[in-house]
Amino acid sequence: MIDSMKSASIIGSGLVGSLWAIFLAQRGYNVRVYEKRPDMRKQSIGGGRSINLAMSDRGLKALHTVGLEHEIRKLTIPMHGRMIHHLDGRTELQPYGDKGQFINSISRGGLNELLMTKAEESGAVIEFDQPCFGYDFQRKEANLKNGFTQSDLLFGTDGAFSALRSTLEKTDRFNYSQTYLEHGYKELHIPPNADGSFKMEKNALHIWPRKSFMLIALPNLDGSFTVTLFLAFEGEYSFTNLTDKKSVLDFFNQHFPDVVQMMPDLAEDFFTNPTSSLATFRCYPWSLENKVLLIGDAAHGIVPFYGQGMNAGFEDCTILNNMMNEFKDDWQKIIPTFQKTRKPDADAVGELALRNFIEMRDLVADKKFVLRKKIEKLLHERHPDKYLPLYAMVTFSEMPYSKALAIGKAQDAFFEKIGELENIEAQLQTSTGATLIDKWMDDFQRLFQ
Ligand code: FAD
Repeated sequence: MIDSMKSASIIGSGLVGSLWAIFLAQRGYNVRVYEKRPDMRKQSIGGGRSINLAMSDRGLKALHTVGLEHEIRKLTIPMHGRMIHHLDGRTELQPYGDKGQFINSISRGGLNELLMTKAEESGAVIEFDQPCFGYDFQRKEANLKNGFTQSDLLFGTDGAFSALRSTLEKTDRFNYSQTYLEHGYKELHIPPNADGSFKMEKNALHIWPRKSFMLIALPNLDGSFTVTLFLAFEGEYSFTNLTDKKSVLDFFNQHFPDVVQMMPDLAEDFFTNPTSSLATFRCYPWSLENKVLLIGDAAHGIVPFYGQGMNAGFEDCTILNNMMNEFKDDWQKIIPTFQKTRKPDADAVGELALRNFIEMRDLVADKKFVLRKKIEKLLHERHPDKYLPLYAMVTFSEMPYSKALAIGKAQDAFFEKIGELENIEAQLQTSTGATLIDKWMDDFQRLFQ
């Protein structure tokens, strides 16, 4: 408990805002959250669609700190690897990490509702239907539908299109960029079998990589899968060319024939569900006068291909919580230190997410990539303390994203060289395979000297 009770306003009760409200309320802060939407626990706002996310270690760590990991794990489905669906119908499971390492599929709505309820139980008050219109520089408070915030601290967790950030953009020397991908996405649905069972392997993240586009599917607790099509807006294969039922069914039959029979409502879903865009948002500073602080997507919105957006936002909460301990709740120290140290990691996870799109839609089906994964596995198994594949650094460790990215780039350079060697597969099969792995390990380490 802090000595003098501090008050905090939080704009947005999405995933990060609700979790941050729990952190602060548990610490004894007087917390009010202002959310523009109605209360999703009383009124459905998702059009009945079940949208899910992959939660990994960074997200779980934050939930563990506020005592929620156990409860939330009950809402998750472990996904042990990527199930690659080739065009000829073959499937291939590529494990994500060591045995026992997995990512978790969880319903976005279910998670958000639970976090809001826990925030209220911890003492936070959430006001719904209360949009924020920006920051009032004279009053030094956020401008709401029904007046102004009144608090010592003001947190912007109002997502990638943050209203609070949009006023900070008007301040001198504020950097801001938003960069859209040429691709958009559309959510679709594979219902469960009549007996409630899953139509495909339950414990995997399914991917249909088709080079310039892809389909993915994550399992839901009710036996269904949420399917997402990532496709360019324009060009030969694009949303623009999918204009009627026939063109949609032709496209799916040509590129994803094994999925079509599992999606009875494909054409209807396709035209009912929106096509959404994807962008990377970068800004700096994230704060104003050591009173206002942007976190989560409001500070660093990224494309979804590493499954890290929410995880990174939850990690913001963990880091801020550690700093509250370290600086004894002195926000004059916490805010500048947080934004300075966290910004390189936010930039790095944004870059990692962009890179992973190419990996997911194209490389995972590539023989060279599969061989690289095999060699990385051998390196890691023989030298677990010296070699960690990039995916594991990002997903199953707390290593700063910027460090993971730097090591990942060194790994790429190293594998470029290895790729030039002839007959690697054959060499690995022979008795000298282990010696070769040890030599490669030495070579790789030399890159850092
Ligand atoms: P949001 O979740 O966007 O919440 C913002 C909240 O603020 C909302 O409740 C909104 O209504 C409210 N709000 C907005 N404007 C105002 C205003 N003016 N006044 C008051 N309230 C306001 N991340 C992962 O970690 N794993 C994944 O697998 C993953 N998959 C994804 C798949 C897709 C297709 C997309 C688009 C994203 C995915 N993400 C994933 C990213 C993740 O969704 C975001 O990083 C996460 O939701 C960010 O949380 P947030 O609370 O910062 O913002």
